[in-house]
Amino acid sequence: MKNSWMAKSLVFTALSTLILSGCAAQSSGTGKLNVVTTFYPMYEFTKQVAGEHADVIALIPAGSEPHDWEPSAKDMKKVSDADVFVFNGIVEGWAEQALASAGNSKRVVVEASQGIALMEGLPEEEEEHKDEHKDEHKESADGKILDPHVWLSPALAQKEVEAIVAGLTQADPAHKEDYRRNADAFIAKLKALDESFRTGLNNVKQKDFVTQHAAFGYLAKEYGLTQVPIAGLSPEEEPSPAKMAEIIDFAKQNQVKTIFFETLVDPKVAQTISKEINAKTDVLNPLEGLTDDDKKQNLDYLAIMTKNLEALKKALNE
Ligand SMILES: [Zn+2]
Repeated sequence: MKNSWMAKSLVFTALSTLILSGCAAQSSGTGKLNVVTTFYPMYEFTKQVAGEHADVIALIPAGSEPHDWEPSAKDMKKVSDADVFVFNGIVEGWAEQALASAGNSKRVVVEASQGIALMEGLPEEEEEHKDEHKDEHKESADGKILDPHVWLSPALAQKEVEAIVAGLTQADPAHKEDYRRNADAFIAKLKALDESFRTGLNNVKQKDFVTQHAAFGYLAKEYGLTQVPIAGLSPEEEPSPAKMAEIIDFAKQNQVKTIFFETLVDPKVAQTISKEINAKTDVLNPLEGLTDDDKKQNLDYLAIMTKNLEALKKALNE
């Protein structure tokens, strides 16, 4: 009898300590961690890990394209008030400046792509755009432009989730085990997604696919495909007439039957090319933001990636 009472009392003490240390880290007024993320995949990955323990918001609203988004004064206030700030890195060229001016030494900052070996951008585009876009892109030591689109590889997405687990655990160690358990459940789904990409794209007839901007480099590399992008690492980079001619030529020679476009970017260039070579168009979604329509249909990262896989299988087996 006595032993069982002691055990209960120990459990109670342990729980109180957990609850108290949890509250100390939280400043949202709801007793939950206040987490600010940038664009959709960062929001989704963070929500999956945080579960019920955090209020998670995305700064960049549905329907907006993150490559050319800039924070308002209101957004800066949200960054300043956050317990944890989660960003991908590189896409959010404004983040470092925003964090520096937001102050607050207690905020935990998660750059989710940190620790992943980033690929360089495409050489031809470096020559064309290097000077105009110097400030927007992170460059490696030798001045090469780095590709930020790691979230589109289900394998690398798992590493981003791990970085988020570490950040949330640092800010709120009391819920460490829940963050680990939530992350493990989501990572299991990402592993299954990775497996279906691997088997689904293993025996496709065609390995080349034409995309609206160079967002699918990591995905292509992971599954042995070749991405042929119309625009560079940012979708707003308009292709030159020479670049258009080169892609049309490539598509003709390699019998490309589908030209992919995106949901958040004007598809006119993709449509022009598809008409020129008498190809179809279809959506390949770089998950840089949800549309209102995606939201209405309750589409999330896993659902959209599954649609991407189906679109690729269809295009590459024609
Ligand atoms: Zn992009």
